[in-house]
Amino acid sequence: MADKKLKNSLKNQMLKMTLIPLILMTIAIVAVSGHVVRKTITDQIEKELIRDAEVVGFIFDEFYEGEYRVEESEDANELKIYKGDQLINSNDSLMNLFSEKLDVDVSIFYKDVRIISTLADDDGNSAIGTQASSIVKKEVIDSGQSAFYDNVMVYDQRSYAYYTPLKNDKDEVIGMIAVCRASGDVINEVIRYELPVVGICVVVALFFGIIMIRYNRHLANRIFKMDKYMNSLANGDFDKEMPRELMQLDDELRHLANDGKRMARSIKTLVEYDALTELNNRRSADKKLEEIRIRSVEQGIKYCICISDIDFFKKVNDTYGHEMGDEVLKMVSAKLKSGMVGKGFVARWGGEEFLIIFENRELDIARRELEIIMDDIRTIWVPDSDRQITMSFGLTFMSPEESVDETLKRADDNLYEAKETGRNQIVCK
Ligand code: GH3
Ligand code: MG
Ligand code: MG
Repeated sequence: MADKKLKNSLKNQMLKMTLIPLILMTIAIVAVSGHVVRKTITDQIEKELIRDAEVVGFIFDEFYEGEYRVEESEDANELKIYKGDQLINSNDSLMNLFSEKLDVDVSIFYKDVRIISTLADDDGNSAIGTQASSIVKKEVIDSGQSAFYDNVMVYDQRSYAYYTPLKNDKDEVIGMIAVCRASGDVINEVIRYELPVVGICVVVALFFGIIMIRYNRHLANRIFKMDKYMNSLANGDFDKEMPRELMQLDDELRHLANDGKRMARSIKTLVEYDALTELNNRRSADKKLEEIRIRSVEQGIKYCICISDIDFFKKVNDTYGHEMGDEVLKMVSAKLKSGMVGKGFVARWGGEEFLIIFENRELDIARRELEIIMDDIRTIWVPDSDRQITMSFGLTFMSPEESVDETLKRADDNLYEAKETGRNQIVCK
């Protein structure tokens, strides 16, 4: 499991869980702040355009006393707008001055037609003679109300525009004063204000993103290590070290790691130890034999192998019962175990047979140590009886040139010889 490429790995899930909200939040902040900036600028522009339109109207009133009126000349195409006695649709210089000073375009309409205008297209063609859009006509001329538009087509470009009606002495709408500013300028302004906000948001998002990625990677790595450890356990490696990273923090993963360690110990006991005698079992003895053979070949370490068997054990069972037989097995196991402390390894090989491994010893040393153990076994008596327990031992050396089976066969042959030639003894070859 640990090495498989997972379709929905925890690492990816955690990344999605943290990065998606972060990205969405960043987009939301940028969008909301963009909207706020745009709204603030639009409100500001609206105020400015209203003020500019008032200034235009005020100056006209100040300069030219009287009401607005319209006269049609002989040439039907040409209209004359008067303010009092002053013909104002010839007064381009005043308009241009307004436009320049206020940084807006100014137009005077007769009905919905521009008769004075500072607007011109890219080729310099004046907007004079062009019409206001139908919506403006409807909302300003027809209803007599001023109106502000934040995205209206003025002549040839999208603009912010404020229209205020021009009325004659009978309070009839005869035209409009319009001041406008191209949207392009404003969009640039929005971008100018918005850019630092976007920049800061992106930097902060990146900063948090990096922290989250690092944190996630660390967590995912610890989970991956736990998965790997459990995988080793599933493959029967109960001695695998628990990775250090899992024990660093006092969190659920450390608890899981501790449970994993306890589980490994429990399984190891179940799998590698014999329940009755609490000695290593045949399975772990086989493993140990393979290990020491490798060490003897690679490192030249000397080992001696002994197979031992309780003498006339069947009789113990038959005479004193199976349960007493079990008791004797436990007593023998305890003596073997204590006798082998610091000398090597002992396992229940099967039934009333035991495997003993002397580590890093010549055969004659092992023999002497085994004699002490044999003497100790002789001190065992079946409880409340006059039956002494003895054992026979087949001892041999492990040769790096031969297989484990060949060594075991020689030990077994020696045991057989010990049994055949009187029991309660060691045969060593
Ligand atoms: P020898 O000296 O030739 O070894 O004679 P023996 O009687 O010890 O040999 P044998 O192989 O005839 O008998 C072994 C007995 O050990 C038979 C079996 O019932 C008994 N035995 C094996 N495992 C256990 C166990 O776990 N508990 C008990 N109580 N007896 C066991
Ligand atoms: Mg036997
Ligand atoms: Mg026996």
